[in-house]
Amino acid sequence: MLNKAQDTAIYDENASNWHIVLEKLHEKYGDEIYQSWFKSLSLEDVEAGIATISTNTRFIRDWVLLNYKKDILLFWGELDSSVIKIEVITNSRKIEVVKPQNQPIKQSNILLDDRFTFENFVIGESNKIAYSSAMEVATSKKVKAGLNPLFIKGKVGLGKTHLLQAIAQKTREKFPAKKILYMPAERFMFEFIKALQHKEIMSFKDRLRNVDILLIDDIQFIAGKETTQEEFFHTLNTLLDEGKQVVIASDRSPTELIGMDDRIKSRLGWGLVAEISNADNDLRSNILKHRIQAQNINIEDEAISFIAQNITSNIRELEGALNKIAAHCNMMTGNVNIACAENILKDLLRSNIRVITIANIQKKVADYYKISQNELISNRRSRNIARPRQIAMYLAKKLTTKSLPEIGHKFGGKDHTTVIHSVKKIEELIKSDIEISEAVAKLRAEIE
Ligand code: ADP
Ligand code: MG
Repeated sequence: MLNKAQDTAIYDENASNWHIVLEKLHEKYGDEIYQSWFKSLSLEDVEAGIATISTNTRFIRDWVLLNYKKDILLFWGELDSSVIKIEVITNSRKIEVVKPQNQPIKQSNILLDDRFTFENFVIGESNKIAYSSAMEVATSKKVKAGLNPLFIKGKVGLGKTHLLQAIAQKTREKFPAKKILYMPAERFMFEFIKALQHKEIMSFKDRLRNVDILLIDDIQFIAGKETTQEEFFHTLNTLLDEGKQVVIASDRSPTELIGMDDRIKSRLGWGLVAEISNADNDLRSNILKHRIQAQNINIEDEAISFIAQNITSNIRELEGALNKIAAHCNMMTGNVNIACAENILKDLLRSNIRVITIANIQKKVADYYKISQNELISNRRSRNIARPRQIAMYLAKKLTTKSLPEIGHKFGGKDHTTVIHSVKKIEELIKSDIEISEAVAKLRAEIE
């Protein structure tokens, strides 16, 4: 459950979402339309599922309502599904709805999942070092140089976010006076860009540098984003120099952060790099037992071992499998026995075996770049279409057994030499262009 009304909070989620929506509109419609229609919009508030946006003229209001409301709602819904309606008002009406004076200023929100505590974190061989260093950071009154920064490294779904948020919650409990900021790196970037656009960079800096403990999740996200990582470096330096605690989570180690400045990598490695590796069978069954107890699930021991043995990828999938099995089996038989677990799991495993087709690759790539599949296979040469097309051809070559002529054929009847050229081009770009390499990696993970 998301616990929204926390004062640990430092960023305002709605404002941040609104800026992401604006970014997306900018990206979709280009500079000219953005300047004409979106620039004068500002967010009033978000309440009861309605996001209210204001502008200064009725003309802009009507135009935005007529032409862009759907997109705004769509983009917003992707970030916060509780928003179901967009209202655009003019500033004149705004005066009517002005809030009574001396109403407290809304505290900004942060998403801390209240399940993500140390108490709910099950310890095993693969995570004990990360766990104990996280616990030490959270419970030490004074910062220990050897643990600063604490850098938690691990593949997706192994408990990094859980540990970061556990540190935040434990610190708040033990040292209520400490100022804590937990922020995903993606948010750091959007907040930073927003501050730049609105000339509020000083207050952005102040807010970040004014904390006792800064926790940045998924730092790999800003690797290669030059100005953002530069700003992050300054924040990091200031905090470390002042002896404030910094905790970072990442899916790779500091040295493996491609595109990240060497100075940053080096400073990130000054403290402790604690790795969470794949959970062994013992840890997997202990985590299952913990969840079973917490959720009061009626399940046979044999079924627990069976799930633990079969879902080995990561903890998130392990939990997902348990939930599905529990829901289905309870409905059918009232408890979870081995036969039922086997049945459901077989289905789950089968549904995971996906056949990769060229059509599927084209769809994923087109969606990713927000172009249509027709554009993707067209002959258009503009970069924003041609590059995705080359990526799709590259993925088709790498992920399917189709021949070059067959691939060419599926891309609107292109010659096989075009396919070869595309594959080579993308192979080159993966080495030199961080955006392309990230996009390819993301798409690949999604398709495979
Ligand atoms: P990551 O941030 O590394 O991708 P998360 O922290 O989101 O992974 O963890 C994924 C899920 O697995 C969460 O629901 C989390 O509570 C759970 N989880 C991971 N490790 C453990 C653990 N050691 N004990 C209990 N739950 C865990
Ligand atoms: Mg995470």
